[in-house]
Amino acid sequence: MIAVLSRTAPLAQKAAVVRIAEDAGLEVHVSETPTHCLIGLLGEGASTLVPRVEALDGVIEVDRKAPPYMIVSRTHHAHRTEVRVGQARFGGDAVHVIAGPCSVESREQVLAAGDAVKMAGASALRGGAFKPRTSPYAFQGLGRQGLELLAEARARTGLPIVTEVLDVRDIDAVAEVADVLQVGARNMQHVPLLRELGRLNKPVLLKRGLCATLDELLCAAEYIVSAGNGQVILCERGVRTHVDHARATLDLAAIAVLKERTHLPVIVDPSHAAGTRALVAPLARAALAAGADGLIIESHPAPEVARSDKAQQLRPDQLTSLMDELRGIASVLGRPLGVDAQEAAA
Ligand code: PEP
Ligand code: MN
Repeated sequence: MIAVLSRTAPLAQKAAVVRIAEDAGLEVHVSETPTHCLIGLLGEGASTLVPRVEALDGVIEVDRKAPPYMIVSRTHHAHRTEVRVGQARFGGDAVHVIAGPCSVESREQVLAAGDAVKMAGASALRGGAFKPRTSPYAFQGLGRQGLELLAEARARTGLPIVTEVLDVRDIDAVAEVADVLQVGARNMQHVPLLRELGRLNKPVLLKRGLCATLDELLCAAEYIVSAGNGQVILCERGVRTHVDHARATLDLAAIAVLKERTHLPVIVDPSHAAGTRALVAPLARAALAAGADGLIIESHPAPEVARSDKAQQLRPDQLTSLMDELRGIASVLGRPLGVDAQEAAA
């Protein structure tokens, strides 16, 4: 359960709640939203304390039905969280596109991809240096060399970098280059990784697991946020179902439901849901129309020779025309698209 106080309540009032809970042997988690101080009282016997806690000065209410993701929940945190990535503010009025290749493959490839992504008007460049491949014999990424190439693309284009971290031991190296550290679908519940990312002061892009419920995704986000890092962007990327006409089933309802349950920004990856180029644009358009705060789209200078996910990566001209379509949809929704439009609207 959660004791809800005003954020500006005197420290002594907050301490009184903590003391009662600790004396009863409960675990206590204190977090602050822009308006409230939330004190989670966890453990057996918490409910017996309700009358005493309710009677304390400064306690606005005791919420006995708080979800297991109390900090990322919107219940006591009505403000939308904006996550800054370079100049882009994910979760604000504007929508933003992150684009780039599945994997970093070579200097020429990633620099060409970066140039194309910038030209198309995307707000950040993606590219995997550490790749979580299904087969151990498939291309696993260039690792630390890939990070160096991403750093070069960042310096050349000025675009912030989004790249995946697979292993706790690589966090520092990835964080040196990345503006956003991505947790892939396969690692959504990799608890030690989530906890360590919670210690960073950098945005984390958390992708939904292949079979995860939304509450499981939100609990995964809670691991990061409760460890101290509130900069989390959630990503719907399709879930596994019986269908065989797409790589995954893009869960459009997840966008609206997540935005109801959490104040964190929600973006969509149409590429890994689609699995084929032709499906990417329709899914991207639908996701934006359904209320996504942004998209992450795979794009490669020459997809036919890509070393991973070659069937789903857009050619640069396809990315450019999709961006034009998305701009039109965003304007119908009253949302600027991209950093320039975001600044113009500010
Ligand atoms: C990716 O974005 O590179 C990726 C591997 O996606 P996912 O984790 O969603 O499969
Ligand atoms: Mn991929």
